[in-house]
Amino acid sequence: MTALDLHLPHLAHNLSVIRAKLKHDTRIIGVVKANAYGQGVVPIAQKLVDEGVTYLAVAYVSEGIELRAAGIRCRIMVFYPQPENFSSLLHHCLEPVLYSPSVWTLFSEIVRQNRIPNYPVHIKFNTGLNRIGFAPEEVYWLLKDGQNNALEIVSIYSHLAASEESKPHTPTHLQWEQFEKIKAPLAAAYPKVWFHLLNTSGVFNYPEWQMDAVRVGIGLYGYANQPEWDCQLKPVAQLRATITQIHSLKKGDSVGYNQGWQAPNKGQIACLPIGHADGIGRHFGHGKGAVRIHGQQAPIVGNVCMDMLMVDVTHIDCQPGDSVVFFDAEHSLSQWAQAANTIPYELLTGLSNRIPRHIHR
Ligand SMILES: *Cc1c(COP(=O)(O)O)cnc(C)c1O
Repeated sequence: MTALDLHLPHLAHNLSVIRAKLKHDTRIIGVVKANAYGQGVVPIAQKLVDEGVTYLAVAYVSEGIELRAAGIRCRIMVFYPQPENFSSLLHHCLEPVLYSPSVWTLFSEIVRQNRIPNYPVHIKFNTGLNRIGFAPEEVYWLLKDGQNNALEIVSIYSHLAASEESKPHTPTHLQWEQFEKIKAPLAAAYPKVWFHLLNTSGVFNYPEWQMDAVRVGIGLYGYANQPEWDCQLKPVAQLRATITQIHSLKKGDSVGYNQGWQAPNKGQIACLPIGHADGIGRHFGHGKGAVRIHGQQAPIVGNVCMDMLMVDVTHIDCQPGDSVVFFDAEHSLSQWAQAANTIPYELLTGLSNRIPRHIHR
């Protein structure tokens, strides 16, 4: 047995911790891309809506369509819409983020053909992450060609490259300054538009830059990229399994594919029903990851297989069927991630849908 327990009251707690750092009128955009960071998008999105979040954000159009199919009716921003999906985006009332003059022009053509007035869109500026976005000097293009009755700009934003770095952090400061310069003429031309810059770590590190809205993802799920912020939050997802089988080994016996591990002495290993196809990647092999069994650490031995992995239980008294904790409220997923040189984002979003989700309301 393997299960991902989703504690929805923890989601509500995290939302209230984030709200407490914001002014009462700062909007929260709840980021539920990548299956709500691997947790399971429908119950998470529904809970956020129930808790009063009025805007959700996804990365791609297909993710927005999944939310609509599940009956989620709130406003949904699509961070990285691809032009080939623009018509289906329109048909599902999703709101694109436009990131260049050519994408703006292409989208407004499609909106005109569909004769929809004032279609809501969001504008992304590149201030130094150098991912997607209008260039700062394209503000003037937007001021001229953005006066266009097919599209209505709802919000204008940028994204920090290192919002969790300790302060003072010059590149982050330069990004903020650049965004302030972009904002001044646009705010004058579009007084109703809202501006936003911060993700989760930004809310913790620079609440003074919250502007009109914040886009929070990982914080909702219980992580904020620094131990002193993580401890204010509660992890929503907790991963557990039960032992499938236990083997006794002689000194020198090997375990797993390509003899990934050899028993240094006589001992025992336990096989667990989870593998790299479930999101516990091979980088957790060779002792990088360790589980808890009856409160004791059992390191992963050898290579992680597709559907199973093996842990050393030589010093633990355990049986098939006994329960195993990967991460929970006490045993942080951030430490798990760190041990294998990855981050909570990658570990969470990699958790496959093969793992049953148990929802705790
Ligand atoms: C994913 C994403 C976020 C959310 O970031 P967190 O660090 O998870 O809070 C915010 N803005 C953009 C543009 C994103 O792509």
